[in-house]
Amino acid sequence: MMTTYTCAYCGEINDLFIDPSGGDHQEFIEDCQICCRPNLLKMTGNAEADVFTVTAEVEG
Ligand SMILES: [Zn+2]
Repeated sequence: MMTTYTCAYCGEINDLFIDPSGGDHQEFIEDCQICCRPNLLKMTGNAEADVFTVTAEVEG
């Protein structure tokens, strides 16, 4: 499913694809599409309800 997150560095909105088969709690690094810096994304959600929350943090 597609969602968005706000870059922890530049504040721009990024599109993000989440693979629900990866589980209801996922952490991964995604480079910002605008400033190219690595965001640590923490996703929590409920695949059955199709509800996901993504927070972006400065990596490291
Ligand atoms: Zn950025």
